[in-house]
Amino acid sequence: MQTGNSKDFDNLCGVDPLVKIFSDLISFDTKADGSSKTVPSSVGQLRFGAYLSSAISELGYDSKQDEHGVVTVKVPASEGCEKAKSLCLLAHMDTAPDCSGANVKPRLVRKYSGDGIKLDNGLTITQSFCPELASHIGEDIIVTDGTTLLGADDKAGIACLLLLLRNLKTDSSLKHGPLKIIFSVDEEIGLSTKYLDVKNIDCDYAITVDGTELGELDVATFNAYGAIVKFHGTSVHTAVAYKNLVNAITLATEFIGMLPRDEKPENTRDKEGFYHVHGFEGEVESSRIKMIIRDFTDEGMKKRLDFVKSAVDFLNNKYGQGRVELDLQFQYANMEAVLKQNQEILDICTKAYKDAGVKVVLKSVRGGTDGSNLSNQGLPTPNIFTGGLNCHGPYECLPVDSFNSSYKVVEALVKRMSKNKSSKAKK
Ligand SMILES: [Zn+2]
Repeated sequence: MQTGNSKDFDNLCGVDPLVKIFSDLISFDTKADGSSKTVPSSVGQLRFGAYLSSAISELGYDSKQDEHGVVTVKVPASEGCEKAKSLCLLAHMDTAPDCSGANVKPRLVRKYSGDGIKLDNGLTITQSFCPELASHIGEDIIVTDGTTLLGADDKAGIACLLLLLRNLKTDSSLKHGPLKIIFSVDEEIGLSTKYLDVKNIDCDYAITVDGTELGELDVATFNAYGAIVKFHGTSVHTAVAYKNLVNAITLATEFIGMLPRDEKPENTRDKEGFYHVHGFEGEVESSRIKMIIRDFTDEGMKKRLDFVKSAVDFLNNKYGQGRVELDLQFQYANMEAVLKQNQEILDICTKAYKDAGVKVVLKSVRGGTDGSNLSNQGLPTPNIFTGGLNCHGPYECLPVDSFNSSYKVVEALVKRMSKNKSSKAKK
């Protein structure tokens, strides 16, 4: 069994500028709050954005934080690259609502042996829990003390972009076209792209730096809908319930029972879609379930939506019209088709991975990224890895070599983009 050490982490900060930046960033608590009515959903994100914006302004950039908390940095092209295609790089400031992000205490595991990693509070990260660790034996890995998440999702992405901004000022060999850097809010609660305007971004391509394992290049995401299904019962004293009582809890469980057993998240993987009931509240008089529906293909999604509608119709026919109400909400769409029509950005990414010495692994994300919505709004936006693993909980960890490779890819991307001439005139 190995353990992490805070001194080793501090020592690493002294020699690794990317890790030093990361260490500063994770001291901010930016947990998103899905129940909040404010924008952004937590004041921590606002404070963090203000810190980033002023730190970036001090570097000599035009940086602004808007009324939603989103930070945008404009970087004019370097001399001779004014006609290059423009690129927007994005990372999100919030952390997942599922786990605390306050008082994060990073530890460094030196030369990972392949055994379990015991966190300070007794939790253990094993390879059976995180098989990706097998490819990081011998490497240094940043972990938590077990009481919070680490925040690599997505402060690792922000750290890469901050280091880029810093290096663009000091390294004249780092040629680049027009760039925009955006730090978004509330990505973890699905709201980030609501506060981004593709027209305002006004770039040829975008890339999110918000990934997982070394080498991943995310080119496809789920199509996603959310649904709220309401069930209306008739509450009658049980003494006279015979043929009169309609129990809204029974209706809800009957509905859930109709969903295909094999098509739940816990029973699906790879390119398989699912139905996932993630909330239930109910009494005899009324009950309500919350669910999400996911599928990679348009036809598959249509079939799933039709299935849910037909289940609702079935129950309304059985128990009386109006007993069941369905409210479907579109969440995001797969970006794959848009990216396929914009092969150029995928080619640039692939070449950049190669430049950085990273083997590219094209991936379909079993979720969404900011790129899902941005791509479908006309801004092709694949996602690149940061190296972070086990995000959203205390097992989150960040292999240091992968993290540095993520930065190298970002730098290589910017260089590659500077060579792609734009056909349209850019402001
Ligand atoms: Zn993320």
